[in-house]
Amino acid sequence: MRLALSSVTDGLTRLYNRAEIERRIRSALDKRKSQGVCNNISLIMLDIDNFKRVNDIYGHKEGDHVIQALSDVLRDTAAEVPSCFLGRWGGEEFMILLSDSTAEDAVALAEKIRVAFASVSYETAGCQTVSIGVTQAKEETADTLYNRVDKALYMAKAAGKNQVVRLD
Ligand code: GH3
Ligand code: MG
Ligand code: MG
Repeated sequence: MRLALSSVTDGLTRLYNRAEIERRIRSALDKRKSQGVCNNISLIMLDIDNFKRVNDIYGHKEGDHVIQALSDVLRDTAAEVPSCFLGRWGGEEFMILLSDSTAEDAVALAEKIRVAFASVSYETAGCQTVSIGVTQAKEETADTLYNRVDKALYMAKAAGKNQVVRLD
């Protein structure tokens, strides 16, 4: 049981690992295409702001605590949202799949996450922030969808960080 669980989850955060969240995203897109149903699929991509500085100033262990705290915020905030899957994309990047939500719903959730995370104050690292990209899936492959949500996240960084950017 423990083995089966650990093959789809990430050790530090207990969220889905990269392979599993990717599998779920592809499966949501495939299912919609093959069954001709018209549910909305949206992605939220997050990256902690200035995280290298957290590691450099407070140490890698405190960095890990901040990553775990963000994963707790994601779990709490997403608890009530139906068809929502949380994954650690890598390092301090996360991906959320909403397999029955519009971009508007996804932006509302992203904004809740942003505000909740910014309001947590760590004993040593103080307050930290996160930048967030949001997009809704069209008739497309997972790769073009990833490119767009990544671009939205990049725009949030370029616009000054600690914000949500939606790209259609
Ligand atoms: P930006 O605001 O542009 O995102 O700046 P940044 O400093 O966050 O830059 P970047 O996203 O490139 O930095 C990611 C850092 O995250 C680099 C790496 O050392 C650190 N990191 C990756 N995985 C882990 C981890 O599991 N634990 C800790 N403590 N640090 C990690
Ligand atoms: Mg990063
Ligand atoms: Mg970062």
